[in-house]
Amino acid sequence: MQKMHILSDSLDQADEPPPLAAAESGETGTEVCPVSPDARAQANGSWEDWKWQMSNRIRGAAHLLNFFPHFKNTLSLGSVIKKYPLAITPYYASLIQRLDASDPIYAQCVPQVEELQNPACLSEDPLEENEDMPVPGLVHRYPDRALVIATTTCSMYCRHCTRKRVAGTREVSISSGRLRQIVTYLRAHPEIYDVIISGGDPLTMSTEALERVLSAIRTVPSVGVIRIGTRTPVVLPQRITEELVGMLRKYHPIWVNTHFNHPNELTEASQQACGRLADAGVPVGNQSVLLRGVNDSGPVMERLCRGLIRMRVRPYYLFQCDLVKGVEHFRTPLSRGIEIMEYLRGRMSGIAIPQYVVDAPHGGGKIPILPNYIVSMSPTHTVLRNFEGMLVAYPEPYGGTGYWDNVPSGQSAPGVWELAGGLNSHIEPVSLARMNRRCAHA
Ligand code: SF4
Repeated sequence: MQKMHILSDSLDQADEPPPLAAAESGETGTEVCPVSPDARAQANGSWEDWKWQMSNRIRGAAHLLNFFPHFKNTLSLGSVIKKYPLAITPYYASLIQRLDASDPIYAQCVPQVEELQNPACLSEDPLEENEDMPVPGLVHRYPDRALVIATTTCSMYCRHCTRKRVAGTREVSISSGRLRQIVTYLRAHPEIYDVIISGGDPLTMSTEALERVLSAIRTVPSVGVIRIGTRTPVVLPQRITEELVGMLRKYHPIWVNTHFNHPNELTEASQQACGRLADAGVPVGNQSVLLRGVNDSGPVMERLCRGLIRMRVRPYYLFQCDLVKGVEHFRTPLSRGIEIMEYLRGRMSGIAIPQYVVDAPHGGGKIPILPNYIVSMSPTHTVLRNFEGMLVAYPEPYGGTGYWDNVPSGQSAPGVWELAGGLNSHIEPVSLARMNRRCAHA
């Protein structure tokens, strides 16, 4: 088995934020390598074989104990696993550094009793996907997009999964009859331009089975883009083989959205997987979920996003946790997400900053959430705030509206009213780092 090397530890050292309070960084406790040497030896040279990883997933408490001899919480697992199945690839389990929920990998893959504690606001299907399914297995919510549930199997069952009602309850893939129904629906709806193959995780299917789905969808002339939603590069990167990407190439344009949540998931293996996709011309985006105790901190998200773009993966969305049963312990207030976006903006390039969205209950779709950058507006000026706290008056076009005729001239004590009225162009905080740099170079 190859020694696991977490790339994020070596990325962007020069840009690393200052040391954090332990709880903030998510890096409390002593880092250990708790995997049993026997469990590693069982791979017997097959560690890089994705099929070996799939068939040796950790599926129960005894298996977990075999992998982690010091694991203590087996008693509480049974009732949770009965409701929400357990599966962890040996690869993903080997990224665990501490055997408790303070470890971001452990928290995402090992069941916790809190999954059974649900306030009334949570439901099995908060996005009402079942209501937007004109054909079984096809969700049609937005005008030009549709989502195909190609399989209910995942290599790892994320404890925070939005489709907990589906993922792993049975491990089955789409039948040819259902695929035909879906293709018939797509042909009857030429407004659908973008089809997302999802699940479960479609990259757990055999290459041949996945190709059957892609080739069937490609027979619909109005479908322009096919996207694949998968966590495989994160939890089973060995699956991204040359054989797989060679098949994907035939059905371009193919896009992939994956799901890294924490910098500890950025390993050499995951980098190779994403690189292989990118080299095959597949743009790779990342959809993180904001998870309490895992990535609910600006510095952790900064390390994740910097590491992703280094791997040619574009941070695309940061999702607020859905109101799904079994995830209450992962939920953060919306204000936490706003704080993180405030932290990221200005600190990193725009290509590294995901869009923070709430996937609205009742099938309302994605709603982008931002800190407030518009401070005030008048007919002639909009007052904007930047990440430094500088206020800038953006003049509207003159355009013969008549509004500009009454703009007062001259200076007065600057305030937001004066900016909105065109009396001042900006207000900036004293001692800005940017201004200090200008002075140093003057
Ligand atoms: S891989 Fe995706 S569908 Fe599967 S459990 Fe994780 S989040 Fe859910």
